[in-house]
Amino acid sequence: MTSHEIRRHFLDFFHSKQHLIVQSAPLVAKNDPTLMFNNSGMAQFKDFFLGNGTPPARRVADTQKCLRVSGKHNDLEDVGFDTYHHTMFEMLGNWSFGDYFKKEAITWAWELLTDVYQLPKDRLYVSVFQGDEKDGVPFDQEAFDLWKPIVGEDRIIYGNKKDNFWEMGDTGPCGPCSEIHVDLRSPEEVASTPGKNLVNADHPQVVEIWNLVFMQFNRKADSSLEPLPARHVDTGMGFERLCMAIQQKKSNYDTDVFSGTIKVIEELAGRKYEAGTGMSDVAMRVIADHIRAVSFAISDGLVPSNAKAGYVIRRILRRAIRYGYSYLNLAEPFMSKLVPTLADQFADVFPELNAQRDFVTTVIREEEISFLRTLGSGLGRLDQIISDLDGKGTKEIPGETVFELNDTFGFPADLTALIAREKGLTIDEAGFQKALKEQKTRSRKDATSSAGDWIDLAETDRVEFVGYDQPEAYAHIVKYRRIQNKQGTQVQVVLDKTPFYAESGGQIGDTGVLRLFAGSDEIGMLTVLDTKKENDLTIHIVEEVTGLDDLLTEADSVYAVINNARRGLISSNHSATHLLHSALREVLGKHVAQKGSYVGPDALRFDFSHFSKVTDEQLAEVERIVNEKIRENIKLDEKRNVPIGQAKELGATALFGEKYGDFVRVITFDPTYSVELCGGTHVPATGHIGLFKFTGEGSVSTGIRRIEGKTSAGAEALVNEQMAVVSELKDLLKAPKDVVKAVQALLDERSSLQKQVDALQNEKVQQLKNQLLDKIESMNGTAGPSHSRLVERVDVPSADALKQLAYDLKAKVDNLALVLGADINGKPQLAVMLPDSLIQSRNLNAGQVIKELAKNIKGGGGGQPFFATAGGTDLSGLDAALAQGKELLS
Ligand code: ATP
Ligand code: MG
Repeated sequence: MTSHEIRRHFLDFFHSKQHLIVQSAPLVAKNDPTLMFNNSGMAQFKDFFLGNGTPPARRVADTQKCLRVSGKHNDLEDVGFDTYHHTMFEMLGNWSFGDYFKKEAITWAWELLTDVYQLPKDRLYVSVFQGDEKDGVPFDQEAFDLWKPIVGEDRIIYGNKKDNFWEMGDTGPCGPCSEIHVDLRSPEEVASTPGKNLVNADHPQVVEIWNLVFMQFNRKADSSLEPLPARHVDTGMGFERLCMAIQQKKSNYDTDVFSGTIKVIEELAGRKYEAGTGMSDVAMRVIADHIRAVSFAISDGLVPSNAKAGYVIRRILRRAIRYGYSYLNLAEPFMSKLVPTLADQFADVFPELNAQRDFVTTVIREEEISFLRTLGSGLGRLDQIISDLDGKGTKEIPGETVFELNDTFGFPADLTALIAREKGLTIDEAGFQKALKEQKTRSRKDATSSAGDWIDLAETDRVEFVGYDQPEAYAHIVKYRRIQNKQGTQVQVVLDKTPFYAESGGQIGDTGVLRLFAGSDEIGMLTVLDTKKENDLTIHIVEEVTGLDDLLTEADSVYAVINNARRGLISSNHSATHLLHSALREVLGKHVAQKGSYVGPDALRFDFSHFSKVTDEQLAEVERIVNEKIRENIKLDEKRNVPIGQAKELGATALFGEKYGDFVRVITFDPTYSVELCGGTHVPATGHIGLFKFTGEGSVSTGIRRIEGKTSAGAEALVNEQMAVVSELKDLLKAPKDVVKAVQALLDERSSLQKQVDALQNEKVQQLKNQLLDKIESMNGTAGPSHSRLVERVDVPSADALKQLAYDLKAKVDNLALVLGADINGKPQLAVMLPDSLIQSRNLNAGQVIKELAKNIKGGGGGQPFFATAGGTDLSGLDAALAQGKELLS
């Protein structure tokens, strides 16, 4: 059975059990402060378990792209070394939202594995939760009783809280689970050790394939448990492991999920993959695994960067590059060459990769080129460190150095260790771990937040957003809580109905007020500082006031009012990004895809894929088109609840990496110009935008450009500012016809005047020089060779001119010892020149002489033995300095 068939059978099987088959959510988690990446199938359904929304059906199944490289689930360091943990993998899952429970979940799992997939029954083991006294949770008798007739008691394992009790987080839904494990060893091995002994013992061929979670409790903030009113099922099966079991392989990498990629790696590296434990095989597995994580993350909208999720992707990519570099001698970009194979393989399952194959390839390639360069300079730095150590006679690279290499060059500790080993050195592993831990604690401190329990005030099954149609609404408070984060305490309020738009899709959240009523009395007003989404819940962040708890509990209704003027500006900017998007595609080409945006009241920002600078002409053309569309005053055509298939037929632009439901909202400004899937707020007709002006264009990262602009009042203010500058210039220039010409004329005039000034000054210096030549005294040395002396106060315009004068005189007069002083714009300046004869015979040094003289003018300076200069602050001491100079050089 091919992996494609295996996936298909899973979905068909649950479809036949009345499950709705849904799309995988993107890899990157959105609107979930606790999660960077989707790391399990249930992540996209969290809200339904929390009771914050209604699922599209009570039974759902899918295959979900998961990434386990950060947070609670981090398998990164195992990947490549073992054969069954991946960074990115597919999790097949079926769910019951308050529908069926343990009985169906268990019997269906067994039916699928043994009937459909024909896995041998005597190679399967299951676990049930043994209970935990401290937590007050009993043994999962129900699951045991269901499994016993199916597998027999001796195939059941009793699992502890760590393995068999699932919790969403510190608080929230939780419950016991049953895992299914498979034993893939040879009959001889099975005969010598029973598989049961190897379950959960990290044996590569006795692995967990499926986890069935039965959510039946809710954990509260004080850590006590209460039964959930509606019980749910959440299952997750590792697709690649399942393929290994069905295809009777010993490793996930031997299945057809990976064989295509490994073949290309073999060709690039010029050696065979031998499925062993040697480092070249590890490297091939690392590469085959990581290219999937990186490619799918980029096709879901991420780009490698220096922060957050983008940084995680960068690290995964770099890990693969340097395994290739160190163990397969791959010193040229190679990861990007694997993208086409993946794109083809997954074209039907996750088409977003195929749709962006060129973009993904280029982004990876650029990143490879730059990291291979870093790798080169890191190796150089390491060589230097090693030779420094040689000098010190130690054989251990300090932990902090290892950390620095890791942190600044992206040089992992094991690579440093490897190179060190080759040179007969070791690394201070403990010291490195310590430095790493310190950094982690620092970053964790920044990120920690803690949430109090929700205080429920009213029952509701859904929260209604009315903000597309009205800026104000009567509502009830559903619940509120306080959370602690970096900014301090934040009060979060949930309403059953709200006109407040919660930040998403680049558009920032609304602000406004909540007026609180008890009966017909208005008892208070709360300022809404921001509106955010947590999963699908709209959260109003309100200002803390004294007596807040009483106010919220007493209020039986709320009049929620947004700042509508601000919203109008935001809507203008949002509609303008749609017009801009289409104009960019028209001018630059159809490869332009939105990669991010910011839509606020003040400005808009639009990031998109494009590989070169947008020229001034192109920008001007884009701006012209956008403004033309504004003047056409195109009416907004807003359609809600359009089936996704129909929206795609309309040619609506969807964003990669966005999660769309079965029904979407379509925003159209002229069906032949701009049709987008969008949840944001918009102007009723493009004329409301008034005017659009660019304020900037630049690069954000490889292959992604950013355009910034302003609309409406913001654009007007911008234009007014610029016009004010021009009109001031006109005033200054006495109202010329053409300002630019007038400024150019001024500049020309200035440069010709400068030339005249230079010439005049030069002439003056020449005259001065001639006068000075007459003042040179001949000094007949009593105890050495004779020299000429000149000590004078002169009139020159600059320190440079003084220096020039000194040099000119030296060129004219042999053995000249000179001290010149000048008043340069009110500041004293000195120059001292000495002939070699004096330097030698009297052991003088111009630098020292000038230091001495500069004391008179409260200044300092220095230079070479034959020439030095000094500036000072006390002009009245200049003559004294000259007198002292005269003395010294007699
Ligand atoms: P393990 O103990 O093997 O790491 P887990 O307990 O972390 O597994 P779950 O969180 O229960 O696994 O995930 C459900 C299923 O997803 C597992 O039964 C397994 O088949 C699969 N799975 C989990 N982690 C990975 C991974 N890193 N790579 C591939 N498949 C995985
Ligand atoms: Mg795990």
